Amino acid sequence: MAIVTPVEPVAGARRRLKLSSPATLEPIGEIEVATADDVRAALAAARAAQPAWAALSIEDRAQYMWRALEILLERQDEFVEVFRRESGKPRTDALMIEIFAACDALAYYAKRATRILKPQRQRLHGVLAFMKRFELVYRPLGVVGIISPWNGPFILSINPTVQALMSGNAVLLKPSEVTPYSGKLVGDLFQEAGLPQGVLTVLLGDGETGAALVDCGVDKVAFTGSVDTGRRVAESCARQLLPCSLELGGKDPMIVCADANIERASGGAVAGGFLNSGQVCFSTERVYVIDSVADEFIRRVVERTQALRQGGEEYEVGPIFWPKQLEIIEAHVADAIAKGAQVLTGGRRNPNLKGLYYEPTVLVNVTHDMLIMREETFGPTLPIMRVRDEAEAVRLANDTAYGLGATVWTTDNQRAIRLGTQINSGSVCVNDMTMTYGALEAPFGGRKASGIGHVNGDAGLRGYCYQQAILVDRLRGKQTENHFPYSAEKDAGMQKFMRFLWGTRLGRRLA
Ligand code: NAD
Repeated sequence: MAIVTPVEPVAGARRRLKLSSPATLEPIGEIEVATADDVRAALAAARAAQPAWAALSIEDRAQYMWRALEILLERQDEFVEVFRRESGKPRTDALMIEIFAACDALAYYAKRATRILKPQRQRLHGVLAFMKRFELVYRPLGVVGIISPWNGPFILSINPTVQALMSGNAVLLKPSEVTPYSGKLVGDLFQEAGLPQGVLTVLLGDGETGAALVDCGVDKVAFTGSVDTGRRVAESCARQLLPCSLELGGKDPMIVCADANIERASGGAVAGGFLNSGQVCFSTERVYVIDSVADEFIRRVVERTQALRQGGEEYEVGPIFWPKQLEIIEAHVADAIAKGAQVLTGGRRNPNLKGLYYEPTVLVNVTHDMLIMREETFGPTLPIMRVRDEAEAVRLANDTAYGLGATVWTTDNQRAIRLGTQINSGSVCVNDMTMTYGALEAPFGGRKASGIGHVNGDAGLRGYCYQQAILVDRLRGKQTENHFPYSAEKDAGMQKFMRFLWGTRLGRRLA
Protein backbone atom coordinates (compact mmCIF):
# COMPACT_ATOMS: atom_id res chain seq x y z
CA MET A 1 0.00 0.00 0.00
CA ALA A 2 -0.47 2.29 -0.32
CA ILE A 3 -2.55 5.06 -1.53
CA VAL A 4 -6.19 4.04 -1.19
CA THR A 5 -8.97 5.53 -3.29
CA PRO A 6 -12.60 4.41 -3.45
CA VAL A 7 -13.74 2.87 -6.72
CA GLU A 8 -17.03 4.14 -8.23
CA PRO A 9 -19.73 2.12 -6.40
CA VAL A 10 -21.82 -0.39 -8.31
CA ALA A 11 -25.35 -0.92 -7.04
CA GLY A 12 -25.71 -4.20 -5.14
CA ALA A 13 -21.96 -4.96 -5.21
CA ARG A 14 -19.45 -4.68 -2.36
CA ARG A 15 -17.51 -1.42 -2.12
CA ARG A 16 -14.08 -1.54 -3.75
CA LEU A 17 -10.84 0.29 -2.92
CA LYS A 18 -8.10 0.98 -5.44
CA LEU A 19 -4.50 0.77 -4.22
CA SER A 20 -1.44 2.53 -5.62
CA SER A 21 2.21 2.19 -4.70
CA PRO A 22 3.52 5.02 -2.47
CA ALA A 23 6.91 4.62 -4.15
CA THR A 24 5.81 4.93 -7.79
CA LEU A 25 2.21 6.12 -7.48
CA GLU A 26 1.33 3.34 -9.97
CA PRO A 27 -1.82 1.27 -9.38
CA ILE A 28 -1.16 -2.08 -7.70
CA GLY A 29 -4.62 -3.57 -7.30
CA GLU A 30 -8.09 -3.36 -5.89
CA ILE A 31 -9.76 -4.94 -2.90
CA GLU A 32 -13.36 -5.66 -2.09
CA VAL A 33 -14.47 -4.29 1.29
CA ALA A 34 -15.92 -7.01 3.54
CA THR A 35 -19.41 -6.10 4.72
CA ALA A 36 -21.04 -6.58 8.12
CA ASP A 37 -22.71 -9.71 6.66
CA ASP A 38 -19.30 -11.07 5.62
CA VAL A 39 -18.03 -10.43 9.14
CA ARG A 40 -21.00 -12.23 10.70
CA ALA A 41 -20.53 -15.20 8.36
CA ALA A 42 -16.84 -15.40 9.31
CA LEU A 43 -17.80 -15.26 12.98
CA ALA A 44 -20.23 -18.16 12.53
CA ALA A 45 -17.50 -20.22 10.84
CA ALA A 46 -15.06 -19.32 13.62
CA ARG A 47 -17.57 -20.28 16.33
CA ALA A 48 -18.09 -23.63 14.63
CA ALA A 49 -14.36 -24.33 14.29
CA GLN A 50 -13.10 -23.06 17.65
CA PRO A 51 -14.15 -25.87 20.04
CA ALA A 52 -12.22 -28.51 18.09
CA TRP A 53 -9.22 -26.18 17.86
CA ALA A 54 -9.34 -25.52 21.61
CA ALA A 55 -9.63 -29.25 22.27
CA LEU A 56 -6.19 -29.85 20.69
CA SER A 57 -3.25 -29.90 23.06
CA ILE A 58 -1.02 -26.84 22.99
CA GLU A 59 1.73 -29.04 21.52
CA ASP A 60 -0.61 -30.04 18.67
CA ARG A 61 -1.47 -26.41 17.99
CA ALA A 62 2.23 -25.64 18.01
CA GLN A 63 2.75 -28.02 15.08
CA TYR A 64 0.81 -25.61 12.87
CA MET A 65 3.10 -22.78 13.98
CA TRP A 66 6.21 -24.80 13.12
CA ARG A 67 4.75 -25.62 9.71
CA ALA A 68 3.92 -21.95 9.11
CA LEU A 69 7.46 -21.06 10.12
CA GLU A 70 8.94 -23.49 7.58
CA ILE A 71 6.73 -22.07 4.83
CA LEU A 72 7.60 -18.51 5.79
CA LEU A 73 11.32 -19.27 5.66
CA GLU A 74 10.90 -20.85 2.28
CA ARG A 75 8.67 -18.15 0.77
CA GLN A 76 10.26 -15.14 2.47
CA ASP A 77 11.46 -13.45 -0.74
CA GLU A 78 7.99 -13.64 -2.23
CA PHE A 79 6.49 -12.18 0.97
CA VAL A 80 9.09 -9.40 1.05
CA GLU A 81 8.09 -8.46 -2.50
CA VAL A 82 4.46 -8.10 -1.44
CA PHE A 83 5.42 -5.89 1.51
CA ARG A 84 7.62 -3.74 -0.67
CA ARG A 85 5.09 -3.41 -3.46
CA GLU A 86 2.52 -2.14 -0.98
CA SER A 87 4.73 0.03 1.20
CA GLY A 88 7.96 0.70 -0.70
CA LYS A 89 9.93 -0.11 2.46
CA PRO A 90 13.62 -1.01 2.10
CA ARG A 91 14.32 -4.72 1.73
CA THR A 92 16.24 -4.77 5.01
CA ASP A 93 13.30 -3.20 6.89
CA ALA A 94 10.96 -5.78 5.35
CA LEU A 95 13.26 -8.66 6.30
CA MET A 96 14.02 -7.41 9.79
CA ILE A 97 10.72 -5.92 10.92
CA GLU A 98 8.34 -8.31 9.20
CA ILE A 99 10.00 -11.65 8.41
CA PHE A 100 12.59 -12.06 11.16
CA ALA A 101 10.20 -10.88 13.87
CA ALA A 102 7.40 -13.12 12.54
CA CYS A 103 9.65 -16.20 12.51
CA ASP A 104 10.73 -15.39 16.05
CA ALA A 105 7.12 -15.01 17.25
CA LEU A 106 6.05 -18.30 15.63
CA ALA A 107 8.94 -20.22 17.21
CA TYR A 108 8.73 -18.43 20.56
CA TYR A 109 5.09 -19.23 21.25
CA ALA A 110 5.25 -22.71 19.67
CA LYS A 111 8.02 -23.52 22.15
CA ARG A 112 6.83 -21.70 25.26
CA ALA A 113 3.02 -21.55 25.23
CA THR A 114 2.75 -24.86 27.12
CA ARG A 115 4.76 -23.48 30.03
CA ILE A 116 3.05 -20.09 30.02
CA LEU A 117 -0.49 -21.50 29.84
CA LYS A 118 0.06 -24.49 32.11
CA PRO A 119 -2.48 -24.70 34.97
CA GLN A 120 -0.93 -23.22 38.08
CA ARG A 121 -1.47 -24.84 41.43
CA GLN A 122 -1.06 -22.23 44.18
CA ARG A 123 -1.08 -22.53 47.96
CA LEU A 124 -3.85 -20.50 49.49
CA HIS A 125 -3.14 -18.18 52.39
CA GLY A 126 -3.78 -18.76 56.06
CA VAL A 127 -6.14 -21.43 57.28
CA LEU A 128 -7.71 -21.73 53.82
CA ALA A 129 -4.58 -23.65 52.83
CA PHE A 130 -5.72 -26.49 55.09
CA MET A 131 -9.21 -26.47 53.64
CA LYS A 132 -8.90 -25.90 49.90
CA ARG A 133 -6.71 -26.68 46.91
CA PHE A 134 -6.49 -23.88 44.36
CA GLU A 135 -5.70 -24.20 40.67
CA LEU A 136 -5.59 -21.38 38.13
CA VAL A 137 -6.49 -22.52 34.64
CA TYR A 138 -6.05 -20.52 31.41
CA ARG A 139 -8.96 -21.10 29.04
CA PRO A 140 -9.43 -19.63 25.57
CA LEU A 141 -11.81 -16.71 25.23
CA GLY A 142 -13.44 -18.07 22.06
CA VAL A 143 -13.16 -15.88 18.96
CA VAL A 144 -10.73 -12.96 18.98
CA GLY A 145 -11.02 -10.00 16.58
CA ILE A 146 -7.62 -8.59 15.62
CA ILE A 147 -7.39 -5.20 13.91
CA SER A 148 -3.99 -4.09 12.67
CA PRO A 149 -2.38 -0.94 11.22
CA TRP A 150 -0.31 -0.39 8.09
CA ASN A 151 3.15 0.41 9.42
CA GLY A 152 4.15 -3.16 10.30
CA PRO A 153 1.42 -4.79 8.27
CA PHE A 154 2.59 -8.40 8.55
CA ILE A 155 4.22 -8.57 11.99
CA LEU A 156 1.48 -6.58 13.73
CA SER A 157 -1.06 -8.96 12.20
CA ILE A 158 0.74 -12.26 12.67
CA ASN A 159 2.12 -11.75 16.18
CA PRO A 160 -1.25 -11.28 17.92
CA THR A 161 -2.73 -13.98 15.65
CA VAL A 162 -0.11 -16.52 16.76
CA GLN A 163 -0.76 -15.70 20.41
CA ALA A 164 -4.54 -15.91 20.06
CA LEU A 165 -4.30 -19.21 18.13
CA MET A 166 -1.82 -20.79 20.52
CA SER A 167 -4.21 -19.97 23.38
CA GLY A 168 -6.95 -21.97 21.64
CA ASN A 169 -8.96 -19.16 20.08
CA ALA A 170 -10.28 -18.75 16.58
CA VAL A 171 -9.31 -15.45 14.95
CA LEU A 172 -10.92 -12.89 12.67
CA LEU A 173 -8.15 -10.63 11.40
CA LYS A 174 -8.83 -7.24 9.80
CA PRO A 175 -5.61 -5.76 8.41
CA SER A 176 -5.31 -2.13 7.39
CA GLU A 177 -6.89 -1.09 4.10
CA VAL A 178 -3.56 0.62 3.38
CA THR A 179 -1.69 -2.71 3.40
CA PRO A 180 -4.31 -5.42 2.78
CA TYR A 181 -2.11 -7.76 0.77
CA SER A 182 0.51 -7.98 3.52
CA GLY A 183 -2.22 -8.77 6.04
CA LYS A 184 -3.81 -11.33 3.74
CA LEU A 185 -0.51 -13.23 3.66
CA VAL A 186 -1.09 -14.21 7.30
CA GLY A 187 -4.22 -16.08 6.18
CA ASP A 188 -2.45 -17.60 3.16
CA LEU A 189 0.44 -18.77 5.34
CA PHE A 190 -1.73 -20.58 7.87
CA GLN A 191 -3.94 -22.01 5.15
CA GLU A 192 -0.87 -23.54 3.55
CA ALA A 193 0.18 -24.78 6.98
CA GLY A 194 -3.11 -26.71 7.09
CA LEU A 195 -4.93 -24.73 9.78
CA PRO A 196 -8.49 -26.11 10.01
CA GLN A 197 -11.12 -24.21 8.07
CA GLY A 198 -12.74 -21.34 9.99
CA VAL A 199 -10.04 -21.08 12.69
CA LEU A 200 -8.55 -18.00 11.00
CA THR A 201 -10.34 -15.69 8.58
CA VAL A 202 -8.80 -12.55 7.13
CA LEU A 203 -11.36 -9.86 6.35
CA LEU A 204 -10.17 -7.13 4.01
CA GLY A 205 -11.69 -3.71 4.31
CA ASP A 206 -11.49 -0.31 5.93
CA GLY A 207 -12.86 1.24 9.12
CA GLU A 208 -16.37 0.08 8.32
CA THR A 209 -15.25 -3.56 8.32
CA GLY A 210 -13.23 -2.91 11.49
CA ALA A 211 -16.26 -1.42 13.26
CA ALA A 212 -18.41 -4.36 12.11
CA LEU A 213 -15.82 -6.74 13.54
CA VAL A 214 -15.82 -4.98 16.91
CA ASP A 215 -19.63 -5.14 17.02
CA CYS A 216 -20.21 -8.64 15.61
CA GLY A 217 -20.03 -10.61 18.86
CA VAL A 218 -16.36 -11.63 19.18
CA ASP A 219 -15.04 -12.37 22.67
CA LYS A 220 -12.09 -9.96 22.63
CA VAL A 221 -10.71 -7.24 20.38
CA ALA A 222 -6.95 -6.86 20.04
CA PHE A 223 -6.51 -3.49 18.38
CA THR A 224 -3.30 -1.85 17.15
CA GLY A 225 -3.58 1.57 15.58
CA SER A 226 -4.17 5.23 16.28
CA VAL A 227 -5.41 6.79 19.51
CA ASP A 228 -8.60 8.13 17.92
CA THR A 229 -9.68 4.79 16.47
CA GLY A 230 -8.57 3.01 19.63
CA ARG A 231 -10.87 5.21 21.65
CA ARG A 232 -13.80 4.37 19.35
CA VAL A 233 -13.00 0.65 19.64
CA ALA A 234 -12.78 0.93 23.43
CA GLU A 235 -16.15 2.73 23.60
CA SER A 236 -17.81 0.00 21.59
CA CYS A 237 -16.14 -2.72 23.68
CA ALA A 238 -17.24 -0.97 26.88
CA ARG A 239 -20.85 -0.98 25.71
CA GLN A 240 -20.60 -4.72 25.11
CA LEU A 241 -18.49 -5.38 28.24
CA LEU A 242 -15.89 -6.91 25.93
CA PRO A 243 -12.21 -7.13 26.88
CA CYS A 244 -9.89 -5.31 24.53
CA SER A 245 -6.20 -4.57 24.26
CA LEU A 246 -5.24 -1.25 22.72
CA GLU A 247 -1.75 -0.79 21.29
CA LEU A 248 -1.80 2.85 20.25
CA GLY A 249 0.47 5.68 19.22
CA GLY A 250 3.60 7.01 20.87
CA LYS A 251 5.84 10.05 21.11
CA ASP A 252 8.93 8.29 22.40
CA PRO A 253 11.65 10.45 23.95
CA MET A 254 15.37 9.76 23.75
CA ILE A 255 17.59 11.08 26.54
CA VAL A 256 21.29 11.51 25.80
CA CYS A 257 23.32 11.87 29.00
CA ALA A 258 26.62 13.73 29.23
CA ASP A 259 28.55 10.46 29.65
CA ALA A 260 26.95 8.75 26.62
CA ASN A 261 29.06 7.35 23.82
CA ILE A 262 28.13 10.04 21.29
CA GLU A 263 29.08 8.00 18.26
CA ARG A 264 26.69 5.24 19.26
CA ALA A 265 23.99 7.58 20.56
CA SER A 266 23.98 9.51 17.26
CA GLY A 267 23.71 6.19 15.39
CA GLY A 268 20.83 5.20 17.69
CA ALA A 269 19.02 8.50 17.11
CA VAL A 270 19.26 8.18 13.33
CA ALA A 271 18.22 4.51 13.32
CA GLY A 272 15.46 5.10 15.89
CA GLY A 273 14.15 8.15 14.06
CA PHE A 274 14.33 6.94 10.47
CA LEU A 275 13.78 3.16 10.61
CA ASN A 276 10.75 2.33 8.45
CA SER A 277 10.78 6.06 7.53
CA GLY A 278 9.92 6.86 11.15
CA GLN A 279 6.63 4.99 10.83
CA VAL A 280 7.16 2.89 13.93
CA CYS A 281 4.94 3.35 16.99
CA PHE A 282 7.96 3.36 19.31
CA SER A 283 10.37 5.16 17.00
CA THR A 284 12.45 8.01 18.41
CA GLU A 285 10.13 11.00 18.02
CA ARG A 286 12.07 13.60 20.07
CA VAL A 287 15.55 13.89 21.56
CA TYR A 288 16.76 15.61 24.74
CA VAL A 289 20.51 15.99 24.87
CA ILE A 290 22.53 17.40 27.76
CA ASP A 291 23.95 20.76 26.73
CA SER A 292 27.63 19.86 27.28
CA VAL A 293 27.54 17.14 24.57
CA ALA A 294 24.82 18.63 22.37
CA ASP A 295 27.08 20.23 19.72
CA GLU A 296 28.97 17.04 18.99
CA PHE A 297 25.82 14.92 19.10
CA ILE A 298 23.92 17.19 16.70
CA ARG A 299 26.88 17.38 14.32
CA ARG A 300 27.12 13.59 14.14
CA VAL A 301 23.35 13.14 13.78
CA VAL A 302 23.29 15.56 10.84
CA GLU A 303 26.29 13.88 9.17
CA ARG A 304 24.71 10.46 9.54
CA THR A 305 21.32 11.70 8.33
CA GLN A 306 22.83 13.26 5.23
CA ALA A 307 24.44 9.91 4.37
CA LEU A 308 21.05 8.17 4.21
CA ARG A 309 19.77 7.22 0.77
CA GLN A 310 16.27 7.61 -0.62
CA GLY A 311 15.08 6.11 -3.90
CA GLY A 312 17.19 3.99 -6.24
CA GLU A 313 17.94 0.28 -5.85
CA GLU A 314 19.38 0.35 -2.34
CA TYR A 315 18.16 2.87 0.19
CA GLU A 316 17.55 3.29 3.88
CA VAL A 317 14.55 5.64 3.97
CA GLY A 318 11.54 4.59 1.91
CA PRO A 319 8.35 6.48 1.13
CA ILE A 320 5.61 7.46 3.52
CA PHE A 321 2.98 4.73 3.27
CA TRP A 322 0.07 7.02 2.43
CA PRO A 323 -0.78 10.66 1.70
CA LYS A 324 -2.64 11.27 5.00
CA GLN A 325 0.59 10.62 6.92
CA LEU A 326 2.64 12.83 4.63
CA GLU A 327 0.22 15.69 5.32
CA ILE A 328 0.72 15.27 9.10
CA ILE A 329 4.52 15.29 8.74
CA GLU A 330 4.42 18.40 6.55
CA ALA A 331 2.06 20.14 8.99
CA HIS A 332 4.30 19.35 12.00
CA VAL A 333 7.44 20.61 10.30
CA ALA A 334 5.69 23.77 9.02
CA ASP A 335 4.34 24.47 12.52
CA ALA A 336 7.81 23.99 14.03
CA ILE A 337 9.43 26.34 11.50
CA ALA A 338 6.72 28.96 12.02
CA LYS A 339 7.42 28.85 15.77
CA GLY A 340 11.18 29.27 15.38
CA ALA A 341 12.66 25.80 14.80
CA GLN A 342 15.70 25.50 12.55
CA VAL A 343 15.93 22.72 9.98
CA LEU A 344 19.50 21.41 9.79
CA THR A 345 18.81 18.93 7.03
CA GLY A 346 15.74 17.76 5.09
CA GLY A 347 12.51 19.54 5.97
CA ARG A 348 10.67 18.91 2.73
CA ARG A 349 9.19 16.32 0.42
CA ASN A 350 11.96 14.88 -1.74
CA PRO A 351 11.74 16.91 -4.97
CA ASN A 352 13.68 14.31 -6.97
CA LEU A 353 11.35 11.41 -6.42
CA LYS A 354 7.87 10.83 -7.76
CA GLY A 355 6.49 8.88 -4.81
CA LEU A 356 5.56 9.95 -1.28
CA TYR A 357 9.12 10.51 -0.08
CA TYR A 358 9.88 12.91 2.76
CA GLU A 359 13.52 13.73 3.32
CA PRO A 360 15.01 12.58 6.64
CA THR A 361 14.84 15.73 8.72
CA VAL A 362 16.76 17.04 11.72
CA LEU A 363 15.47 20.09 13.59
CA VAL A 364 16.88 22.12 16.48
CA ASN A 365 15.60 25.14 18.47
CA VAL A 366 12.44 23.16 19.11
CA THR A 367 10.13 23.74 22.07
CA HIS A 368 7.17 22.02 23.65
CA ASP A 369 4.86 24.61 22.09
CA MET A 370 5.38 22.85 18.77
CA LEU A 371 3.26 19.98 17.43
CA ILE A 372 6.43 18.11 16.51
CA MET A 373 7.32 17.80 20.21
CA ARG A 374 3.83 16.95 21.42
CA GLU A 375 1.89 14.97 18.83
CA GLU A 376 2.84 11.78 17.05
CA THR A 377 4.53 12.74 13.77
CA PHE A 378 5.10 9.17 12.54
CA GLY A 379 7.60 10.24 9.93
CA PRO A 380 11.34 10.69 9.30
CA THR A 381 11.79 13.67 11.62
CA LEU A 382 14.21 14.06 14.50
CA PRO A 383 13.66 17.20 16.60
CA ILE A 384 16.52 17.71 19.07
CA MET A 385 16.28 19.84 22.20
CA ARG A 386 19.19 20.86 24.42
CA VAL A 387 18.58 20.43 28.13
CA ARG A 388 20.43 21.71 31.20
CA ASP A 389 20.48 18.43 33.11
CA GLU A 390 18.91 15.02 33.47
CA ALA A 391 16.08 16.29 35.67
CA GLU A 392 14.99 18.64 32.88
CA ALA A 393 15.25 15.81 30.35
CA VAL A 394 13.00 13.56 32.44
CA ARG A 395 10.49 16.37 33.05
CA LEU A 396 10.23 17.06 29.31
CA ALA A 397 10.17 13.36 28.44
CA ASN A 398 7.10 13.04 30.67
CA ASP A 399 5.45 16.18 29.30
CA THR A 400 3.30 14.25 26.83
CA ALA A 401 -0.06 12.58 26.51
CA TYR A 402 1.69 9.38 25.38
CA GLY A 403 3.65 6.72 27.24
CA LEU A 404 4.75 3.94 24.91
CA GLY A 405 8.56 3.66 24.98
CA ALA A 406 11.68 5.70 25.70
CA THR A 407 15.43 5.33 25.28
CA VAL A 408 18.24 6.42 27.58
CA TRP A 409 21.84 6.71 26.42
CA THR A 410 24.62 6.63 29.02
CA THR A 411 27.65 4.53 29.86
CA ASP A 412 26.38 4.10 33.42
CA ASN A 413 23.71 1.41 33.73
CA GLN A 414 22.70 2.50 37.23
CA ARG A 415 22.03 5.99 35.92
CA ALA A 416 20.08 4.51 33.00
CA ILE A 417 17.81 2.52 35.26
CA ARG A 418 17.35 5.45 37.65
CA LEU A 419 16.33 7.73 34.78
CA GLY A 420 14.35 5.03 32.97
CA THR A 421 12.19 4.33 35.99
CA GLN A 422 11.33 8.05 36.22
CA ILE A 423 9.85 8.02 32.73
CA ASN A 424 6.13 7.19 32.50
CA SER A 425 6.30 4.71 29.64
CA GLY A 426 5.49 1.06 29.03
CA SER A 427 9.14 0.29 28.30
CA VAL A 428 12.61 1.82 28.25
CA CYS A 429 15.58 0.77 26.11
CA VAL A 430 19.04 1.57 27.37
CA ASN A 431 21.67 2.23 24.69
CA ASP A 432 19.43 0.77 22.00
CA MET A 433 16.33 1.72 20.06
CA THR A 434 13.03 0.03 19.14
CA MET A 435 14.00 -3.31 20.65
CA THR A 436 11.21 -3.97 23.12
CA TYR A 437 8.69 -5.40 20.68
CA GLY A 438 11.29 -7.96 19.60
CA ALA A 439 12.11 -9.07 23.15
CA LEU A 440 9.11 -11.35 23.37
CA GLU A 441 9.54 -11.99 27.08
CA ALA A 442 8.89 -8.29 27.73
CA PRO A 443 5.24 -7.27 28.00
CA PHE A 444 4.75 -4.62 25.31
CA GLY A 445 2.17 -1.94 25.94
CA GLY A 446 1.65 1.72 26.61
CA ARG A 447 0.65 4.03 29.41
CA LYS A 448 -1.68 7.01 29.12
CA ALA A 449 -2.91 7.56 25.53
CA SER A 450 -0.55 4.84 24.25
CA GLY A 451 -2.97 2.14 25.22
CA ILE A 452 -4.25 -0.49 27.56
CA GLY A 453 -3.07 -4.08 27.98
CA HIS A 454 -0.12 -5.91 26.52
CA VAL A 455 1.04 -8.01 23.65
CA ASN A 456 4.00 -10.32 24.29
CA GLY A 457 5.34 -11.62 27.53
CA ASP A 458 3.48 -14.12 29.69
CA ALA A 459 0.85 -11.43 30.36
CA GLY A 460 0.29 -10.87 26.62
CA LEU A 461 -0.31 -14.56 25.85
CA ARG A 462 -2.51 -15.00 28.91
CA GLY A 463 -4.49 -11.95 27.79
CA TYR A 464 -6.03 -14.18 25.10
CA CYS A 465 -7.42 -16.42 27.86
CA TYR A 466 -9.61 -15.97 30.83
CA GLN A 467 -8.24 -17.10 34.13
CA GLN A 468 -10.53 -19.59 35.72
CA ALA A 469 -10.08 -20.20 39.44
CA ILE A 470 -10.75 -23.79 40.50
CA LEU A 471 -11.10 -24.33 44.24
CA VAL A 472 -11.30 -27.91 45.47
CA ASP A 473 -12.44 -28.55 49.02
CA ARG A 474 -10.02 -30.85 50.81
CA LEU A 475 -12.79 -32.25 53.00
CA ARG A 476 -15.00 -33.00 50.01
CA GLY A 477 -17.68 -30.52 51.09
CA LYS A 478 -17.92 -31.66 54.71
CA GLN A 479 -18.24 -28.18 56.26
CA THR A 480 -21.17 -27.24 54.02
CA GLU A 481 -23.19 -29.88 55.80
CA ASN A 482 -23.31 -27.57 58.83
CA HIS A 483 -23.39 -24.13 57.16
CA PHE A 484 -27.00 -23.54 58.26
CA PRO A 485 -28.62 -22.91 60.64
CA TYR A 486 -27.02 -19.67 61.88
CA SER A 487 -26.84 -19.16 65.65
CA ALA A 488 -25.46 -16.78 68.27
CA GLU A 489 -22.95 -19.49 69.29
CA LYS A 490 -21.62 -19.73 65.75
CA ASP A 491 -21.20 -15.93 65.57
CA ALA A 492 -19.41 -15.90 68.92
CA GLY A 493 -17.11 -18.69 67.70
CA MET A 494 -16.32 -16.73 64.54
CA GLN A 495 -15.51 -13.58 66.53
CA LYS A 496 -13.26 -15.53 68.87
CA PHE A 497 -11.48 -17.03 65.87
CA MET A 498 -10.97 -13.56 64.27
CA ARG A 499 -9.51 -12.21 67.51
CA PHE A 500 -7.08 -15.11 67.56
CA LEU A 501 -6.21 -14.91 63.86
CA TRP A 502 -5.52 -11.21 63.52
CA GLY A 503 -5.25 -10.20 67.17
CA THR A 504 -2.45 -12.53 68.35
CA ARG A 505 1.11 -13.02 67.19
CA LEU A 506 0.65 -16.72 66.49
CA GLY A 507 -2.58 -16.04 64.63
CA ARG A 508 -0.98 -13.40 62.42
CA ARG A 509 1.79 -15.81 61.53
CA LEU A 510 -0.79 -18.37 60.48
CA ALA A 511 -2.85 -15.78 58.56
P1 NAD B 1 -5.84 3.61 12.35
O1 NAD B 1 -6.37 3.74 13.73
O2 NAD B 1 -6.23 4.59 11.33
O3 NAD B 1 -6.23 2.17 11.75
C1 NAD B 1 -5.90 0.98 12.39
C2 NAD B 1 -6.88 -0.09 11.98
O4 NAD B 1 -8.17 0.23 12.47
C3 NAD B 1 -7.03 -0.24 10.47
O5 NAD B 1 -7.12 -1.61 10.18
C4 NAD B 1 -8.35 0.46 10.18
O6 NAD B 1 -9.00 0.00 9.04
C5 NAD B 1 -9.12 0.11 11.43
N1 NAD B 1 -10.24 1.00 11.74
C6 NAD B 1 -10.45 2.27 11.31
N2 NAD B 1 -11.60 2.75 11.85
C7 NAD B 1 -12.10 1.78 12.64
C8 NAD B 1 -13.24 1.68 13.48
N3 NAD B 1 -14.11 2.67 13.62
N4 NAD B 1 -13.44 0.53 14.17
C9 NAD B 1 -12.56 -0.48 14.07
N5 NAD B 1 -11.46 -0.45 13.28
C10 NAD B 1 -11.23 0.66 12.58
O7 NAD B 1 -4.27 3.52 12.53
P2 NAD B 1 -3.17 3.46 11.38
O8 NAD B 1 -3.05 4.81 10.77
O9 NAD B 1 -3.44 2.29 10.50
O10 NAD B 1 -1.85 3.10 12.21
C11 NAD B 1 -0.94 4.04 12.67
C12 NAD B 1 -1.09 4.20 14.17
O11 NAD B 1 -0.93 2.94 14.81
C13 NAD B 1 -0.02 5.11 14.75
O12 NAD B 1 -0.63 5.95 15.71
C14 NAD B 1 0.92 4.13 15.43
O13 NAD B 1 1.65 4.68 16.49
C15 NAD B 1 -0.03 3.08 15.91
N6 NAD B 1 0.67 1.83 16.16
C16 NAD B 1 0.78 1.38 17.45
C17 NAD B 1 1.49 0.22 17.72
C18 NAD B 1 1.64 -0.31 19.13
O14 NAD B 1 1.98 -1.47 19.28
N7 NAD B 1 1.42 0.49 20.16
C19 NAD B 1 2.08 -0.49 16.67
C20 NAD B 1 1.96 0.02 15.38
C21 NAD B 1 1.25 1.17 15.13
